[in-house]
Amino acid sequence: MLDIASIAKLGGARKYNIDETIFYAGDSGHEMFIILKGKVGVLINSIDGFPIKVAELGPGDFFGEMSLLEGMPRSATVEALEDCIVMVINENNFEKIIAQQPNLAYRIMKGMSGRLRKQNEEISQLKHGEAAESQASEVNSSVKILDDSIFPPNHKTYPLTASPDDEAFLFDREVTCPVCEKTFTVKSVRSSKLRLDKVDNDMRQRFIDIEPLWYLVWVCPHCYYSNFNFEFKQVSDSMARKFLDQSTELKDKVKLQFSNPRKIDEVFASYYLMLQYLRMSTQDPSAGAKVWLRLSWLYYDVQDEEMFIYASQQAYDMFKDSYYNGRRSTTVEQEQRLSLLLGELSLRLGENEEALKFFRGALVRKADGNNTVNRQAEDRIAQLRETNKT
Ligand SMILES: [Zn+2]
Repeated sequence: MLDIASIAKLGGARKYNIDETIFYAGDSGHEMFIILKGKVGVLINSIDGFPIKVAELGPGDFFGEMSLLEGMPRSATVEALEDCIVMVINENNFEKIIAQQPNLAYRIMKGMSGRLRKQNEEISQLKHGEAAESQASEVNSSVKILDDSIFPPNHKTYPLTASPDDEAFLFDREVTCPVCEKTFTVKSVRSSKLRLDKVDNDMRQRFIDIEPLWYLVWVCPHCYYSNFNFEFKQVSDSMARKFLDQSTELKDKVKLQFSNPRKIDEVFASYYLMLQYLRMSTQDPSAGAKVWLRLSWLYYDVQDEEMFIYASQQAYDMFKDSYYNGRRSTTVEQEQRLSLLLGELSLRLGENEEALKFFRGALVRKADGNNTVNRQAEDRIAQLRETNKT
């Protein structure tokens, strides 16, 4: 057991409120944390950059040690699932603490190798939907389209409004825009309340009683910079200046203000605003692909078949570009999952031959291949063979 009381004397304790983010994956940091009170959730990025919860940690558990010891960027996002008090260990007090608590050093070493392995196993189960237990009104749109060039030609308006019950899952968060540096309030989903129901074949996570996709994109109301909430802060200074130069032009094209409860048209506008930013800021096709994949799900929900196919085609083309040409540093498992997703999208677009090719590509029999993916790929190949027979 750790002697928490004596550790507490050496370092600073810090409080985090429920749903507060302690750090994001990719952040730099030189601290590790020991939980004194409360619970935190560990979220890692799935294949296309989306966070999924892979672990919960409680009192006595620690996290963030890789950044402290090796100066590596944070490998996961950590959020408070309850009000928490954590002990902060940094370069200044680390040696003192280890000297006093040699078994902490042992636990850190053991934890480092064990945790990564566990996360990989859990992510497989999550994707396979096995971890479910662990975890229209009037359209009076507040989106004014002054120039529809930010939307594709056949995009329409849709009579769908969020349920007032969503409010129970949401809280207001103050955010400072990394582009214009002004502050504003966003609706943020309490990840502590999310219960995963299942994961679709195309990796869409279904949650009980709420669709977090509606709240995934934050829009700065001052400069219209828009991005996924978990990537919102990741803007370089030069990109911020470049975007700010064009922001007036963007605001001439569309006016967006979220209603409460929000309307699907506002949600669509937020995704298309984000695409405007991404076009300017990145050459990476997978960045656009993950936006289009989510747009396809939203179009599915509003039952616009034509736009569902259109968005799926965009996602498919961009993921394919990334698959063949991307410079990625990915694991074998991530490659398998991308191949599987490309198979699903091919199938959706009626390209059965391509689908078969990608499902076969997802099969990796070697030791580093993931068996959950292998099983799913085998199932899809068998189903395709059946369909081709009849
Ligand atoms: Zn801004």
